[in-house]
Amino acid sequence: MSHVVVIGGGATGLSTAFWLRRAGVAVTVIEKGIVGWEASGRNGGGATHAVSPLFAEEQRLWPMMDDLLGYPTEYQRQRIRIGLSRQQLDLILEGVTIARKQGFTAQELDNKFLRELVPFVSEHAAGGVLLEYGGHANPQRTLQAYAWAVQDHGGTIQQHTTVTGFDQAGGNITAVRTDQGTFGCDAVVMAAGPHTAQLAAKLGIRVPVAAARAEMVVTEPLPLIRFGGADGNGVYGRQTLRGNLAYGGGPHEWIDLPDATTPRAVNSPVMQSVAKRVFELFPKVAHARVIRSWAGVIENTPDGRPILDRLTGPDNLVIASMSSVGFGLSPATGHAVEQLVTQGKCDFADLSQLKLSRFDTLAPDWQEAAGWVPWKSEESAA
Ligand SMILES: Cc1cc2nc3c(=O)[nH]c(=O)nc-3n(C[C@H](O)[C@H](O)[C@H](O)COP(=O)(O)OP(=O)(O)OC[C@H]3O[C@@H](n4cnc5c(N)ncnc54)[C@H](O)[C@@H]3O)c2cc1C
Repeated sequence: MSHVVVIGGGATGLSTAFWLRRAGVAVTVIEKGIVGWEASGRNGGGATHAVSPLFAEEQRLWPMMDDLLGYPTEYQRQRIRIGLSRQQLDLILEGVTIARKQGFTAQELDNKFLRELVPFVSEHAAGGVLLEYGGHANPQRTLQAYAWAVQDHGGTIQQHTTVTGFDQAGGNITAVRTDQGTFGCDAVVMAAGPHTAQLAAKLGIRVPVAAARAEMVVTEPLPLIRFGGADGNGVYGRQTLRGNLAYGGGPHEWIDLPDATTPRAVNSPVMQSVAKRVFELFPKVAHARVIRSWAGVIENTPDGRPILDRLTGPDNLVIASMSSVGFGLSPATGHAVEQLVTQGKCDFADLSQLKLSRFDTLAPDWQEAAGWVPWKSEESAA
């Protein structure tokens, strides 16, 4: 394998490029904007994905990422999950059971201990759990770290370059066409987030991914809590090292995104709902002002699980689409994709459930059937 083109400079593409360079493979990352500008730099930073086959590798790698990359990610291990009601707590405990079966531990917290760890938690909380696994990192820092590490290891990142098509010969992709010229390649990794569907379609491949918007709110700085990652009540997030609460959630918003263009503005009803939930969880800091908010676009598969697959036609193409769990899993995903490219299989996780072929019989109208129908504004419908 002499040269791999990675399409997409998000967490998935950059981590893949990093691992490929560590394996001695020449790599060019092609990014239509700037690295980390889409979901990868806009997310909640959570790294706790117990239902993923890459969970063990996610947990193994994160504590070493600062050393491996050579730059800080602000990773913090452990998390506190809080149930405001018994029903919320039971759901949290279901997730804990899945992690425990894989050898990870968690400690149920009585209200006194929960309040010691999270002084501003609601007095009416039904309870909490301290996860001795999982964690979170700073997405912006992490994406910068990945990009610098790729370059430090000799990889090339080509920003402001949009992939427009592919050249094929003998069942392989031989070159990637862009608005800045053509890049010859021995293999391609498609890690283009919500745009993966449109790019794959250029090769006649159906990748069922729908784009949906989520939003984040950030408060002014508050006194630091011990683990920095306490969430529940339908929102997820973290406390930054400066003390800001940065939380996201709300329902995914199915909006008209024919080319999956990122809407930059937030939708204030979603933002208000996220803020309301955060302050229900932490009423003692409900006076804190929301000082920032933003939206990001998430790639979603019909079953909510990533697609990580080396295809057989063309047989030098790997699809890596993460279905809303791509930041936390990125260290493990990049490692797995590197192995799919260089060895044809991953030797540390069973990726069989993440194959694209599981959607072979998916109905063409799956988005309508799931209720994931884009909302059309009067302007766009006109
Ligand atoms: C508000 C929010 C909160 C979230 N919270 C979490 C969380 O706490 N934990 C978690 O694990 N995940 C979370 N996610 C999901 C996570 O951010 C994504 O799953 C992940 O970032 C996907 O990374 P990616 O690199 O695959 O895709 P992206 O980040 O979308 O990157 C794809 C890149 O490809 C580029 N691209 C697209 N088309 C082309 C083209 N034609 N040519 C060149 N480049 C192209 C894009 O510009 C983009 O930079 C959240 C997402 C959002 C929006």
